[in-house]
Amino acid sequence: MRCEVCGREAKLMRVEIEGAELLVCSKCASLGKILRDSQAPKTSNIKYDYKLEEPFVLVENYGELIRKAREKLGLTREQLAKKLFEKESVIQRIEANELEPSNELVLKLEKTLGITLREQ
Ligand SMILES: [Zn+2]
Repeated sequence: MRCEVCGREAKLMRVEIEGAELLVCSKCASLGKILRDSQAPKTSNIKYDYKLEEPFVLVENYGELIRKAREKLGLTREQLAKKLFEKESVIQRIEANELEPSNELVLKLEKTLGITLREQ
């Protein structure tokens, strides 16, 4: 079996990349979301410890916080965007405080970067 992304002969796993299900090697699996086998209960949605519906206020300097946390982790905007399944341009606009991230994205950013973006 060959990896459907890089063509390398390897042990393959099912991974979702940009909405498409592919059989890829472990190296390429990091590009997408690894899918459990169909017998396992669906766990495609990341479970968060808090409710999405819970109202919150975004901190004023969210863009700066995100950029600093990202740089601290040594991630480029592109790499962070990939991790979050977002476009690089979205991350760029958020970091420039031009775009307020959606509730879901706020939670993903907080988890990925280890920061808090909501006013306490
Ligand atoms: Zn591969």
